[in-house]
Amino acid sequence: PTMAHSQALLVLENFIGGKFVPCSSYIDSYNPSTGDVYCKVPDSGKEEVEAAVKAAKDAFPIWSSKSPLERSQILNKLADLIEHDLEAFAQAESKDQGKTITFARTVDIPRAVHNFRFFASSILHHVTECTEMPTMGCVHYTSRSPVGVAGLISPWNLPLYLLTWKIAPAIACGNTVIAKPSEMTSVTAWMMCKLLEKAGVPPGVVNIVFGTGAKAGEALVCHPDVPLISFTGSTLTAQRITERSAPHCKRLSLELGGKNPAIIFDDADLSQCIPTTVRSSFANQGEICLCTSRIFVQRGIYSEFLKRFVAEAKKWKTGNPSDPTVDVGALISKEHLEKVRNYVKKAQAEGARVLCGEGVDPLALPPGNQKGYFMLPTVIAEVKDESCCMQEEIFGPVTCVVAFDTEEEVIKRANGVKYGLAATVWSGNVGRVHRVAHRLQSGLVWTNCWLVRDLNLPFGGMKASGIGREGAKDSYEFFTEVKTITIKH
Ligand code: NAD
Repeated sequence: PTMAHSQALLVLENFIGGKFVPCSSYIDSYNPSTGDVYCKVPDSGKEEVEAAVKAAKDAFPIWSSKSPLERSQILNKLADLIEHDLEAFAQAESKDQGKTITFARTVDIPRAVHNFRFFASSILHHVTECTEMPTMGCVHYTSRSPVGVAGLISPWNLPLYLLTWKIAPAIACGNTVIAKPSEMTSVTAWMMCKLLEKAGVPPGVVNIVFGTGAKAGEALVCHPDVPLISFTGSTLTAQRITERSAPHCKRLSLELGGKNPAIIFDDADLSQCIPTTVRSSFANQGEICLCTSRIFVQRGIYSEFLKRFVAEAKKWKTGNPSDPTVDVGALISKEHLEKVRNYVKKAQAEGARVLCGEGVDPLALPPGNQKGYFMLPTVIAEVKDESCCMQEEIFGPVTCVVAFDTEEEVIKRANGVKYGLAATVWSGNVGRVHRVAHRLQSGLVWTNCWLVRDLNLPFGGMKASGIGREGAKDSYEFFTEVKTITIKH
């Protein structure tokens, strides 16, 4: 890749103790839609993490003693400031990640704003438990307090969205934090640091250390004074984090990968189901942990579904992410694009049929995007359940469609992977929808819809998709220690 000559490189700095701090070495960050290096990200390690831990520990006594209402007001202020700059944040997220400007404007940044508002509100409404034991003359009650310094590690697919989903509950509960965004998508986190002081977040409450997982991430995971790690990313990295943190018995929340099924019964409303399933397969280039990648269609409607699904997928326009009419932007990196393409090749080698997209349809890109990491939405059929395309998380714009006969059979096949994050079920039969939802091994089940979230309720995965849940009550419990107090009167 060539350097972007026309513009000066954007150089990020760590944010520690309320100050921007330069780093001794930097990592190149690419614009995925052009292939140019356009930004330098600090390559932090132990030393930077040490400084951030010190700042976070120093800030903890004051921040944790503020009332929930005071913290709530600060979170709301921060939400307002991000919202005020929504367009600048959306542009930056699109450029840094490759996602379309439309997605960044309508999903990523509004949700980041909402994360702060949501936890600013929910922190005011928790009640603790109390029980009485009249015969013993006792009352028992629980009290909750923040844990201390929280380590927050997030991935590249929804950069500010997922980072704020951790920062907001952590600081709302009175913890101080060290956050490490993905080294591939660090820009919006850095932009947010510029707003913290104005929002009234005291120095040291939110520290951001940029860098790789191997250096900065591990330094955070291994630090003895960071008792809690909230991680979103791949299952492989989660295994490593579990091992590295084990000697310290840290509290872990792990939000991991998925291989999410859509189950489409012959009584489904296809006029709703088809556009939603195209969206659930290809939104954000298929780079959402909740994206559908295995579509099970009941045999009676299989050929009609396939025909209409492929026609709908072909309508999705791939190209320059900053063009508001574009539906599919660039994938995160050259390596990732290669990996995703290889899955399609493997499927073909195994005898599956590629119905549209990669290797089948021409990909016409604007002149400025010829070196970007683009790929068309790709639909694969006649693929075996045991094939790697049906078992492994591809995390790109690739989805597999297969036929099934019975309810019993499809539940077994849908559950036949190591993951268990999200599933969708399409049917007009209420009884069937409940039966199937109960039996799916999946942290989330959407019926006749996709990605409709109420942040009050638990979010997270079963099996290799994670440990723990996040949401109003779940995040509150994760980010606090509970104590049971007994009073005899
Ligand atoms: P990744 O695991 O490679 O990286 C995630 C983060 O962990 C990055 O910040 C990375 O720098 C850091 N990291 C890497 N190695 C580390 C180590 N040894 N110690 C500490 N930190 C380390 O994941 P990714 O490729 O950035 O993201 C894609 C993955 O995230 C997919 O598997 C996707 O399904 C998953 N994901 C899950 C959810 C969810 O809520 N369940 C949401 C979004 C993404």
